[in-house]
Amino acid sequence: MNYDVLIIGAGPGGIFSAYELALRAPGLKIGVFEAGHPLNKRACPINGTTIKSCIGCKSCSIMSGFGGAGAFSDGKYNITNDFGGTLYEYIGKKRALDLMKYVDDINMAYGGAGTKLYSTAGTKFKTICIQNDLHLLDASVRHLGTDINYVVLENLYAFLQDKVDFHFDTPVRGIRCVSGGYEVRCDSASYTCKQCIVSVGRSGSKWMEEICREMEIPTQSNRVDIGVRVELPAVVFSHLTDELYESKIVYRTQKYEDKVRTFCMNPKGAVVNENTNGIITVNGHSYEDPAKQTENTNFALLVAKHFSEPFKDSNGYGESIARLSNMLGGGVIVQRFGDLIRGQRSTPKRMEESFVTPTLNATPGDLSLVLPKRILDGIIEMLYALDKIAPGTANDDTLLYGVEVKFYNMEVAVDEHLETKYPGLYIIGDGSGITHSLSHASASGVHVARRIAGFQE
Ligand SMILES: Cc1cc2nc3c(=O)[nH]c(=O)nc-3n(C[C@H](O)[C@H](O)[C@H](O)COP(=O)(O)OP(=O)(O)OC[C@H]3O[C@@H](n4cnc5c(N)ncnc54)[C@H](O)[C@@H]3O)c2cc1C
Repeated sequence: MNYDVLIIGAGPGGIFSAYELALRAPGLKIGVFEAGHPLNKRACPINGTTIKSCIGCKSCSIMSGFGGAGAFSDGKYNITNDFGGTLYEYIGKKRALDLMKYVDDINMAYGGAGTKLYSTAGTKFKTICIQNDLHLLDASVRHLGTDINYVVLENLYAFLQDKVDFHFDTPVRGIRCVSGGYEVRCDSASYTCKQCIVSVGRSGSKWMEEICREMEIPTQSNRVDIGVRVELPAVVFSHLTDELYESKIVYRTQKYEDKVRTFCMNPKGAVVNENTNGIITVNGHSYEDPAKQTENTNFALLVAKHFSEPFKDSNGYGESIARLSNMLGGGVIVQRFGDLIRGQRSTPKRMEESFVTPTLNATPGDLSLVLPKRILDGIIEMLYALDKIAPGTANDDTLLYGVEVKFYNMEVAVDEHLETKYPGLYIIGDGSGITHSLSHASASGVHVARRIAGFQE
């Protein structure tokens, strides 16, 4: 065997598996195979001047490489079972929370010390939200910020580099069972291992589906979240963001009783493109460093769409809607809320006259030509609901970027150890469909590593 443990993917799930194994079982030979580049080679070519939009790199530096999709993220580690995944359904609520706290301790020890931990505990906003038919979810939020998140990753890499074999720019093409373990096939060679941890995240979702099909690992998928990214002057939300940093607020629409929620709030942040399997959607981040902050706050408003039989391709549905925006706008479309309400497209001229300066160079357009009516109606209703707790949210110049899609990987069949029906083959992180966040993905990595290391807590 080439390795005792072979890890596929160097996102938070893979990194924390490797970290915990190196710590608890230093005698094991560990290999990490990553489709993307090392951290210091990751750079998105969009520079705002010569390259203004996504050029479809072979390996997307935003989504792939050491640090995974989280490397340039806002580094918000939400310590909660209320959102970010359903890890607790597999390992129990207490253990899930304990592992998230453990991950937070490691992040603090590797460069995050001094960053702020926000909490909804005892906040007055819970009451204010309920009085306005809005529901604030409970969480503690460690905000590392994009810059400190990067430093933590650099330090974790420095710790791991002489304990683990890293194979960058090495996408894994296939896995098969062999006597005593697994064989992992890459483009130029194959490697064997006794145990294998698969942590391929969202960018590996299509590949993960293929592997599950080939190996007959049962999966299920029926959800996709679709919506827009809202950008407005930071002062509109500052009373909430100063105290909570991120507030996860849920609203049930009166028209359809659909749930709409805020997601990934970035105070004084920037809106960014995201490339998932060649489709350009929108996301956001913000920096801890005041010098890099903007005058705007952004957050997503998402409507969860659950499908029932016979339709199975929920991600395909989300992709089709995102493709429509790419077709009309060449990428992401931006529209002023006032234009949307008046049924007119935003034009470059109207955007110039706007009081809110966009932080992403997107194509002014008409989101009503892209988003299904039911979803758009839900978003509009939620904007008016939020306007009651943060007056100014429903202003004409509030910018809506579309589309934002949260693709959920199909949920793979694993047991409480996150082990598949094949002994020693584990599927963790966002690639398992069980987690959707930095904290949950990282915790799932620690959970599996401790099992492999035989670590007794
Ligand atoms: C712009 C942005 C901002 C975000 N902000 C936040 C935030 O503030 N808070 C939060 O909780 N979450 C955030 N997220 C989500 C978060 O990044 C993910 O939930 C998290 O990274 C999941 O970790 P993971 O290890 O499961 O997968 P990933 O981070 O996606 O890592 C998977 C890795 O596997 C590699 N890979 C894929 N297929 C293969 C293959 N076949 N062979 C080898 N390698 C492969 C990929 O290249 C990738 O590096 C954000 C995401 C984005 C894109």
